[in-house]
Amino acid sequence: MAAGYDVIVIGGGAGGLVVTAGAAQLGLKTALVEKGDRLGGDCLHYGCVPSKTLIHSAKVASLLRRAPEFGLDGQDTPVDFARVTAHVRDVIAQIQKHDDPERFRGYGAEVFFGPARFVSPHEVEVSGQRLAGRKFVLATGSRPLVPPVEGLEAAGYLTNETVFGLGRLPPSLLVMGGGPIGLELAQALARLGARVTGLDFSPPAIVAARAFAAEPGFAERTRFVAANVYDAPAALAEHDRFDRVFVS
Ligand SMILES: Cc1cc2nc3c(=O)[nH]c(=O)nc-3n(C[C@H](O)[C@H](O)[C@H](O)COP(=O)(O)OP(=O)(O)OC[C@H]3O[C@@H](n4cnc5c(N)ncnc54)[C@H](O)[C@@H]3O)c2cc1C
Repeated sequence: MAAGYDVIVIGGGAGGLVVTAGAAQLGLKTALVEKGDRLGGDCLHYGCVPSKTLIHSAKVASLLRRAPEFGLDGQDTPVDFARVTAHVRDVIAQIQKHDDPERFRGYGAEVFFGPARFVSPHEVEVSGQRLAGRKFVLATGSRPLVPPVEGLEAAGYLTNETVFGLGRLPPSLLVMGGGPIGLELAQALARLGARVTGLDFSPPAIVAARAFAAEPGFAERTRFVAANVYDAPAALAEHDRFDRVFVS
């Protein structure tokens, strides 16, 4: 016999957690199902938190180098990238405490781990258990879109799910896509010492890339190619070689 809930929330990311906390505290019998082994979703593990932490470290590194511009002693030492990424992991671990399943159980919700699969219009199966619900909230998030660019699969690429786990700063990086995610990563890794080439064809991306390239010392480390990412093999000169490619 399936356990019955007023609401079953599928996905323990930012969206699912807010709905779970609200529904349970309003007194609805609520179940939260997360397919991974921890709550927090993209924002905590592969998005806002690691990216903003990396950006902050990169900004501090840049300001240390530029300290004389502000009447202070500067420090132009190379960045120990492994320490920066360890710091990113520490920040995630600190925030993970707020996304502890016990917190949501404390609000009255039941929390299940395992992928949810619909087995009828009102039932899902999670790790061999059936849960019945009156209403369902699908908060299953998104995945990085990898464009079908010739040679990309063979060359290998990073996405937001892998880039924050890098143990070593790539000496050179191609960033495909100049939206907020591509631009913020390009800026952060360039400030930390990588040579970065950005690729995008949209005017806002070009304007933003030019704005951050105006930072002292930046122009030598960054370059922006205005072209469609699908034309990457043709848009990049034959002699262009990159240690890593980031798809954003
Ligand atoms: C690099 C980067 C930087 C970002 N920076 C910011 C920022 O600064 N500010 C900001 O507001 N936003 C930012 N975002 C966007 C933000 O991360 C997302 O908007 C947010 O994570 C979306 O939350 P969500 O709950 O919809 O999905 P997600 O966080 O993706 O959560 C979905 C959850 O559903 C689970 N799931 C999927 N399928 C199933 C299933 N069948 N059964 C059970 N569980 C399942 C997944 O495991 C996951 O935990 C950034 C994103 C990226 C990638």
